[in-house]
Amino acid sequence: MRSQAFVENQSRTKRGLSSHITDEEKLWKKLWSIKAPGKMKITLWRFAHDCLPSGTQLRQRNIPVASDACLFCNREESSEHTLMFCPYAAEVWRAVKSAFPLHLRRKDFSTTKSWVLDFLARSCERELVTMAVTVWHLWEARNGVRNEEKRRHPNSLAEQIKVYIELILLHLLKNPTVQRRESSSTSHWSPPPTGTAVVNSDAALFSSSSRMGVGVVIRDHTGSFLAACSKLLDEVTSPEIAEALAIRSAISLARDEGLNDFILVSDCLSVIQRIQSPVRDRSMVGVVVEDIKILAASLSSVTFRHVSRHCNNSAHAMARRAELSGSCFFHGVAPKCIRDKLCIDYI
Ligand SMILES: [Zn+2]
Repeated sequence: MRSQAFVENQSRTKRGLSSHITDEEKLWKKLWSIKAPGKMKITLWRFAHDCLPSGTQLRQRNIPVASDACLFCNREESSEHTLMFCPYAAEVWRAVKSAFPLHLRRKDFSTTKSWVLDFLARSCERELVTMAVTVWHLWEARNGVRNEEKRRHPNSLAEQIKVYIELILLHLLKNPTVQRRESSSTSHWSPPPTGTAVVNSDAALFSSSSRMGVGVVIRDHTGSFLAACSKLLDEVTSPEIAEALAIRSAISLARDEGLNDFILVSDCLSVIQRIQSPVRDRSMVGVVVEDIKILAASLSSVTFRHVSRHCNNSAHAMARRAELSGSCFFHGVAPKCIRDKLCIDYI
């Protein structure tokens, strides 16, 4: 089969494993360079990593939903079903392909990742745009039906998709100014390099008790959950010190998990700036910041990144959790309170 053959060819390459990784990384770069809005590329990337919250995914993660079956056809709702195999998706694809031909090769499907990598390897820019735009619209249509919006006729959805693709092909590909603006607006997010991890940290102050909660969530570069913790600390009332303590705990946990190379994410800009500053910090929070710098220097690579609060939901939930549940640690299986947040956290 084509997809399997692709993966096997990659792993049998005479140049060995390192070139296999390099070839795969080139394909992910190809995905991120598709001339489509970032949200569409992210949906395609999440499809490839099978982390779209489909009915099957939600059931596997024990997240209760009214129905985990496909709302178009009542079959099992995996992400590949929604985006490729569902009769509704097939109708949409048929109409889109009449204007923008491409080969889906559905019969060669084995896993979402091998299928997307194979598609990336064999497709031209126009086909890649068609894929990213159609996948996103199909997923949005599915979400709309889940949210009890009126189900759209597949031809109507396909018309909207075709207009969108035409717009991109006419303007984005021919207009470098618009293209640059598009790429800069989406550059705020990209997946971490293969082999690295993402460590989210957050703090929550519980003013009634002068206590604080620390929340840490660690995932690998594909977004898969590795570990998390909640910690309850006494006698902390300054938000900035609380955030710095959360970052220190996050680095310690990552180190204890055997991680040496990771991106530390916090939604507290002032603490991230203090950590990144070469100047010795003499503020109240400075003692903790100096600790953080020493800890980070003892590891091979720690990159500090600030994100907005809504990109840090899972760590925030873990910090809040400490007020009720005290200190606890999770390894391998994510606690229920963050399962629905793990995927959306990234965007
Ligand atoms: Zn279906």
